Amino acid sequence: MIFTDDTTAALNFVAALADTVPEASESGEDELATTAQLDALLDAWLYSGRRDGDARELAEVVAARERLRALWALDRDDAVVEVNAILTESRAIPRLVRHDTLDWHIHATSLDAPLAERILVEAAMALVDVIRADEADRMRACAADDCTGIFLDLSKNGSRRFCSTRCGNRMAVRAYRARSTG
Ligand SMILES: [Zn+2]
Ligand SMILES: [Zn+2]
Repeated sequence: MIFTDDTTAALNFVAALADTVPEASESGEDELATTAQLDALLDAWLYSGRRDGDARELAEVVAARERLRALWALDRDDAVVEVNAILTESRAIPRLVRHDTLDWHIHATSLDAPLAERILVEAAMALVDVIRADEADRMRACAADDCTGIFLDLSKNGSRRFCSTRCGNRMAVRAYRARSTG
């Protein structure tokens, strides 16, 4: 285990959120275009806390998605600046909480803070762990040249290259074709 469960879950959620953009999504469309799609994403990840379900909240989450995509791509020292900025802006105060079926874990905002703020702060807190553990190279970009997907590489030897089996298979087929026609 590289990270604690809550850090891993937070980072996998960031990747799932980031990979709803058309250039990375399975459908090839923006999969975060409606409040219903946002709701479905949150349900799939058992995301707790306040949901307004309105257009404003969706717009804020879409903006957070862009910010987190950019953050994911930064090198370690630049990521520190952005992580600290998020924590400062939201006046994050770490505390241990226990809710729903989850045992003690860390939150740095209250459950009734706006959704986009909670998403950003939760991601920033996970990044605190990643950066302190010097494991930022586990935050990867998909190696498929037609995909902007990102993913957390939890493989033992850190050798995962694609955001999804969909991308892995597509690139394998392409490589095979290039060999057989070349
Ligand atoms: Zn929680
Ligand atoms: Zn991909």
